[in-house]
Amino acid sequence: MTDADDYADEWEDLTEKELLVGVLTELQQIRLLLSDADRERDADPDQYECTECRTTVPADNRERHVREQHKAPPGDTEAVAERLLKPA
Ligand SMILES: [Zn+2]
Repeated sequence: MTDADDYADEWEDLTEKELLVGVLTELQQIRLLLSDADRERDADPDQYECTECRTTVPADNRERHVREQHKAPPGDTEAVAERLLKPA
């Protein structure tokens, strides 16, 4: 028996209502995840100030800044950016 058959059997056991409830529950969880992501993005300021050289850096450029200005080792730029750049 293939996986597809398994699914088909499982679905046949469910009533239409049960299926809908399942889908709606899943949708709700997705919505929650999405709004969480939205909130996190909103809380994330666009500008960061470098504690090392007092430069203000846009969020997108944090890793490039520490790589180019502070010789952060490749692969470690994220950690260094985290340490040096604070929300402005
Ligand atoms: Zn800097």
